[in-house]
Amino acid sequence: MTVLVTGGAGYIGSHMVWELLDAGESVVVLDRLSTGFEWAVAPEAKLVVGDVADKELVGSIIRENKVDAIIHFAGSIVVPESVADPLAYYENNTSKTRTLIETAVREGVPHFIFSSTAAVYGGAGLEPVREDARLAPESPYGLSKLMSEWMLRDAGLAHDIRYTALRYFNVAGADPRGRTGQSTPGATHLIKVACETALGKRPFMQVFGTDYPTPDGTCMRDYIHVSDLAAAHRLALQRLRAGGQSLVANCGYSHGYSVLEVIDSVRRAFGRDFEVKMGDRRPGDAAAVVANSDLARAELGWTPQRDDLDQIVADALAWERILTSKNSARG
Ligand code: UDP
Repeated sequence: MTVLVTGGAGYIGSHMVWELLDAGESVVVLDRLSTGFEWAVAPEAKLVVGDVADKELVGSIIRENKVDAIIHFAGSIVVPESVADPLAYYENNTSKTRTLIETAVREGVPHFIFSSTAAVYGGAGLEPVREDARLAPESPYGLSKLMSEWMLRDAGLAHDIRYTALRYFNVAGADPRGRTGQSTPGATHLIKVACETALGKRPFMQVFGTDYPTPDGTCMRDYIHVSDLAAAHRLALQRLRAGGQSLVANCGYSHGYSVLEVIDSVRRAFGRDFEVKMGDRRPGDAAAVVANSDLARAELGWTPQRDDLDQIVADALAWERILTSKNSARG
């Protein structure tokens, strides 16, 4: 039995590969290396460079490796880019996922785990959001993922395939053992931006909006450590293999931190101050997005091990330092 991880050279995918290898699984990665890095793939995993919509290639990977589960991370993830170029997102995230599901069904792969997102919910409030909340994505990115969930649901009803779609909240941090981390240049995510600023890779950073209806006026998010997220996928895999039914579940910790609290945590981890400017709101940001994760805890038996903002930030900062030396070693 082998697990096929698409997008396994990317941020979350590369952590998943380590999580599976650490658990003794055999892993094959399929990645186009458009945003991922070959060095991010654990050496014990087999890497195939190619596209998830290449039916012949995926079919042969499945047959040659006796793949019994696909964990599908490959896709585009930048919300504003999806607004500017929606058709690219529907192609890359929705059409290609459709083709991948079709190949999985044709080849008789019984288990499919899909990376979905909190962006399938509309503007959330301060209350933790449950899976049965109103689905109203505000971007083509969110809709491209929701359509994939629906295709999986319908394929699951019609064919012999069971799936788990995990809706991620704000994924952050890095492998505590320093083996991989968020490496994409030009990242926009708060914790990565703050760590880059602390290390002098940016002259300053901005807080996008200080007049939100939250306790300190800045936006609140549910930051989840990438290793806990990978563990949730491993548990989802176990559950499907044990005969578990298809499931859609949130992955977050069920409590939020404000932008200012995150920046304070980075200051603590770094031990020194760095320049932070108070700026205007960023278009499209909701005041608060926090998961209700009761379902994942109950159904997957998921007990987060790293639910601690300071630990998430410390791991992210440690990885940022490793990345600096990797990049300078490459010249
Ligand atoms: N944010 C910020 N400055 C930055 C990047 C992000 O103030 O340089 C804020 C952003 O407005 C949001 C929160 O941090 O309220 C999390 O943003 P991120 O882009 O990390 O994730 P999102 O929740 O948008 O997926």
